[in-house]
Amino acid sequence: PLVLGIETSCDETGVGLVRGTTLLADAVASSVDEHARFGGVVPEVASRAHLEAMVPTLERAAETAGVRLHDVDAIAVTSGPGLAGALLVGVAAAKALAIGLGKPLYGVNHLAAHVAVDQLEHGPLPEPCLALLVSGGHSSLLEVHDVTVGVEPMGATIDDAAGEAFDKVARLLGLPFPGGPHIDRAAREGQVTIDFPRGLTSRRDLERHRFDFSFSGLKTAVARWVEARERSGEPVPVADVAASFQEAVCDVLVRKALDAATERGIEDILIGGGVAANSRLRALATERAADRGIRVRVPRPGLCTDNGAMVAALGAELVARGRTPSTLDLPADSSMPVTTVVA
Ligand code: ATP
Ligand code: MG
Ligand code: FE
Repeated sequence: PLVLGIETSCDETGVGLVRGTTLLADAVASSVDEHARFGGVVPEVASRAHLEAMVPTLERAAETAGVRLHDVDAIAVTSGPGLAGALLVGVAAAKALAIGLGKPLYGVNHLAAHVAVDQLEHGPLPEPCLALLVSGGHSSLLEVHDVTVGVEPMGATIDDAAGEAFDKVARLLGLPFPGGPHIDRAAREGQVTIDFPRGLTSRRDLERHRFDFSFSGLKTAVARWVEARERSGEPVPVADVAASFQEAVCDVLVRKALDAATERGIEDILIGGGVAANSRLRALATERAADRGIRVRVPRPGLCTDNGAMVAALGAELVARGRTPSTLDLPADSSMPVTTVVA
């Protein structure tokens, strides 16, 4: 089946076209530059940008794929979680298309889509698999048996998301928003010289938060370290701080993901979400997993950050497995739980 996917949960307007597990088009328009001077995504600005970008992005995707919208067999759209106003634009567009074209509509979970997207690059998902989802808004460990039915949360961040920590630390190092890619790049020129804290890894914390994450203490530790340096009048070694911070984040993420997989007897780990684009995370996960006989799959960076192809990929899987579509009163659900795949 040919499936159209629409994503508008945050600041990317994404439209993807997928046939089965084959990616035909992935058009993304981002309003990230409009948010940069605020140091974070401004919801009203994002909603407005989605409205303006929706039709051109739809047209661009259809043109790239060489298909007409009439050829589409089903429409999938991110129903949640995300920014309410931003989600609403995608959901309204998807309903209009579903009604106009007379095709089934699937309102899907953004996080499940971050997992399903890997099919487009590496083929059918291993079942079961352990998904490590790390983005600007989420950091979760999920056990996945069938991504079209549901995922079981094993742990999540108790404060900041991993991507949020990257963005905040970048800001205090004077790097532009969004900070993740800039820290990644700066870290390559630096050395891991500072031993920053690994959140929720002490024996006591592990009792209650075995598979949870915490990054706000790390962010504060970096801020203190930088302040002390500035007070002493010495220059801040940005590349070394970036490398040391990045190492602390990646170390904890990989350690807990591997422990979770081992505990559940799962042999495949899938990493998704914007932070999965991080080069150190990809390298460290692959290296440590190999020692334990665990396989790691990570989609290419362009499929890790928000896009429409991931929504189309999940939609195509829902169609292939004969799941029931959503109704046309489908809501935009900003706090959609990760256990719900189709709204
Ligand atoms: P959600 O949390 O709802 O999935 P999001 O807007 O955070 O949405 P993503 O595109 O999945 O969307 O992730 C963006 C985050 O990923 C930002 O915090 C960004 O800094 C981070 N990121 C992107 N590339 C890298 C990288 N190379 N290294 C580290 N972090 C990165
Ligand atoms: Mg984004
Ligand atoms: Fe996302």
